[in-house]
Amino acid sequence: METTKYQLPENEIPSAYYNIAADLPEPLAPVIHPATKQPIGPDDLAPLFPMSLIQQEVSTEREIEIPEPVRDAYRLYRPTPLIRALRLERALDTPAKIYFKHEGVSPAGSHKPNTAIAQAFYNKQAGVKRLSTETGAGQWGSALALAGSMFGLEISVYMVKASFTQKPYRKSMMETWGASVLASPSDRTNAGRKVLAEMPDSPGSLGIAISEAVEEAATRDDTNYALGSVLNHVLLHQTVIGLETKKQLELAGDAPDIMIACVGGGSNFGGFAFPFIADKIHGKSSTRFIAVEPEAAPSLTRGEYTYDFGDTAMSTPLMKMHTLGHDFIPEPIHAGGLRYHGMAPLICHLYDLGLMEAVAVHQKPVFEAAVLFARTEGILPAPESSHAIRVAIDEALKCKESGESKTIVFDLSGHGHFDLSAYDAYNANALTDTEFNPQASKAALEKTPRLKSAPQMGIMM
Ligand SMILES: *Cc1c(COP(=O)(O)O)cnc(C)c1O
Repeated sequence: METTKYQLPENEIPSAYYNIAADLPEPLAPVIHPATKQPIGPDDLAPLFPMSLIQQEVSTEREIEIPEPVRDAYRLYRPTPLIRALRLERALDTPAKIYFKHEGVSPAGSHKPNTAIAQAFYNKQAGVKRLSTETGAGQWGSALALAGSMFGLEISVYMVKASFTQKPYRKSMMETWGASVLASPSDRTNAGRKVLAEMPDSPGSLGIAISEAVEEAATRDDTNYALGSVLNHVLLHQTVIGLETKKQLELAGDAPDIMIACVGGGSNFGGFAFPFIADKIHGKSSTRFIAVEPEAAPSLTRGEYTYDFGDTAMSTPLMKMHTLGHDFIPEPIHAGGLRYHGMAPLICHLYDLGLMEAVAVHQKPVFEAAVLFARTEGILPAPESSHAIRVAIDEALKCKESGESKTIVFDLSGHGHFDLSAYDAYNANALTDTEFNPQASKAALEKTPRLKSAPQMGIMM
């Protein structure tokens, strides 16, 4: 019998995060204050984040030690398995080898607890009592609710109203872990009340929910804000995925030719790929890295690389990123975790430097791939993760044509047990694919602030 599961012992949970800022051939563009148009400093972020996380945000140290209580919490589900998808390979009749890293084994069902646990720990250490956050489909809110219960923090979640009504079970999960959950737009914040006044039955959006959560943290002394993707420190925490994958591929005696992950804000891709991209930067590998985005929100492949806000109410600092415009509202696809107008600045920078590639895919072929994966490997994947599966299958089919035996590794960012209505829609042949509307994005992009001169490169502290 062939081995298909590569499992590391508990004591091989990484002891340090890998910080790709140490290896970038060119530094990242600074984050800009929207009023002063100058790079922001730590004081600008202090109302929202503890100093330890602000330092990580700008650090260029290659290794950042993982605190023991965080490693201890990771032990609940880490190390996660790396699995050879032999049955999928056979079904495709491909000479390629396909592996996947299974982040769906965490209690919340996705990779998101990797950073939620770290953020809860650093906030607790700084004496913070409450964290506010937003959630779209509910995965990030669940992860933070779990982390809050582990470290004794109150968690306040603004959940996009459309999901709040359509996906009640994520809410049940968050409340069971002790979080309080409000539908966004809510009447608790100025940002929410403003939207409700203009549009009383607004279904909400991630951008609006971020505005509400940021406002709560900025106006309450006992409350900080937590973000589940996009920021440097979030991608940093996720590198436990790639660091483990490296060891596991060594166990398997294999090296990746192609690595694939889906991208919403970029955190599972970054965490999975960065430790391997380091080798590529240093000329030690020629692995291809492919980020897969939905055709409904194709920020890397169709967006503009410019400074933009992270939220709709324009309350965040300006980040240089591939963006569709901060008030662009993506089509309501089932992969809610990928419906974001922007992208992590680190991912955009690597893409711009030609160190990685990106493709956009429609949701119907994504669900076809998800169902084939479920029927061969047994795991019901999250719609987000199924974007990576689609492209892994496409690359394996190319190997079948060319006869090449490449090693393809993808990140399975989560399971789809809360996405069964999406599977119902697919099974009933009721899924539709709409074409991306470049005009809508162009109109939204006209509202991005145009900085007259490129701000000076540099570190902000
Ligand atoms: C949130 C989420 C994503 C998208 O977020 P990234 O920051 O791009 O990783 C992808 N997959 C799952 C399962 C998620 O929960």
